[in-house]
Amino acid sequence: MKLLEQYRGLAEALLWEAHKFYTLQYQRSDGGNLSVRIPGTAYMIVKGSNVDFGSLSLDTLVIADFAGQRVEGNGKPSKESLLHGAIYREFAQIGAIMHCHSPWATAWAARHEELLMATHHAGIKLGGLCPVFDTHSYVVPEEHFAGILDILRQHPQMKSFLLRGHGQVALGADMRDAALTAELVEETAMIAQLSGLSG
Ligand SMILES: [Zn+2]
Repeated sequence: MKLLEQYRGLAEALLWEAHKFYTLQYQRSDGGNLSVRIPGTAYMIVKGSNVDFGSLSLDTLVIADFAGQRVEGNGKPSKESLLHGAIYREFAQIGAIMHCHSPWATAWAARHEELLMATHHAGIKLGGLCPVFDTHSYVVPEEHFAGILDILRQHPQMKSFLLRGHGQVALGADMRDAALTAELVEETAMIAQLSGLSG
C-alpha cells in the first residue's frame, strides 16, 4: 500500500490547514510550505513545489525523506523540505511544520529582532520567544540551518520563528498544533502593530 494512502488521515489534516490558510490569506500565490512527519519513519508528507495552498490536493502532495528527496508522489518536494527535514531529524517532539508568508508577521520581522509578546495569550502560548532570522533568501539556505537548530536547542519551549523579508515558521506536535501557533504568531504581530508597539 502506498504511504499516502496508509497515512491519509495525516495528509487530510495537512490539506485542511493549507486550504484554511489560503482562505485566511495567510498564504497567497504559490509560496509557503507545510509538512507532517510520518511517525516512526524518516519521511514526511510535504507540499509539492509550485502548488498554491488553495488548490493543494492529495495529488500534489509528496512524500520526501529528511534530505528533501522524493520517496513517493508526482511533484517535486517544496524547496523548504530540507529545513523541515533538518528540524524533524533533530527534534523528535516536532511532528508538523507550517511555513507561510503571513503579512503581519513578515512586516514585523522587517524591523525587529524578535516578536513582541503583545498579548497575554501570546506570552503564555508561544514559549516566550519567537526570534527573527536574517537568511537573505526566499528559501532558507543550508548554511543557516545550524544557527536555527542551535537556538531551538537552547530554547526547547520555542514554537516559532520569523524570517526577515520572507515569512514565519511554526512548529507543532501535529498539523493542527503547528497551524494554531502560526495563526497566533500572525495575530500577535498584527496586534503589536495596530497597537503601535515597537518592541
Ligand atoms: Zn517561504
